[in-house]
Amino acid sequence: MDQTIPKVTAKRLPVYYRYLDRLSSLGIRRVSSAEISRSLNIDPATIRRDLSYLGALGKKGYGYDVDYLIQFLREFLKQDEMTHVILIGVGNLGTALLQYDFLKNNTTIVAAFDNDPAKVRSKINGTPVYSLNRMEEIVKEENVLVAILTVPVHAAQEVTNEIVKTGIKGILNFTPTRLRAPEDVKIHHIDLSIELQSFIYFLKKTDPVVVNEDE
Ligand code: NAD
Repeated sequence: MDQTIPKVTAKRLPVYYRYLDRLSSLGIRRVSSAEISRSLNIDPATIRRDLSYLGALGKKGYGYDVDYLIQFLREFLKQDEMTHVILIGVGNLGTALLQYDFLKNNTTIVAAFDNDPAKVRSKINGTPVYSLNRMEEIVKEENVLVAILTVPVHAAQEVTNEIVKTGIKGILNFTPTRLRAPEDVKIHHIDLSIELQSFIYFLKKTDPVVVNEDE
């Protein structure tokens, strides 16, 4: 992704993409930043700035051409390419994620892994579950880019070391552990309790706050 685009903008681009794709499937051909703003609850100035990073400038009185913008975002987000993902730890959270249809975003979980023999060789929502010793082979075979980590805390670092050995360059970490990995492996940490806490903080704050603005 273009390095000059701020991270907060890059995070919003898939949100715009999904929204515009929905408009297009409803036959809507143009949209204003005010309309996008109302639907996505993002300030219109932020939307105009975000889209201007892509070189997409809305015309005054016309707004944005939906299909043109989709094409632009698709190219930008590489939505035409299917990204292969694996998941390690088929417990409560892992199973829930396997039930979710990521295909809409051109992403698919091609395999899951667990060290519980009772779970190996099962299939969840069509995704096969393997033992960890098959990980390297499957990552190579399926050209996997990202690993989703949903193992218990005590196993997180050890499993991360195994993921790194496969050559995977991105880990989506759902465990509360701060993982150690070589610099060329990017780790994105997702913690719902922190998200909830900061959301509650914003809700309780009496001052008017623009939640969607860049921090
Ligand atoms: P769980 O106990 O239901 O599932 C964990 C799974 O990992 C089990 O199937 C277990 O067999 C497997 N496992 C254990 N050790 C392994 C190893 N060495 N290799 C491969 N598989 C192994 O746990 P859960 O409730 O699904 O939670 C999973 C993780 O997600 C935990 O670290 C938890 O703290 C975290 N979590 C995060 C969030 C969040 O918002 N980020 C929310 C809930 C849970």
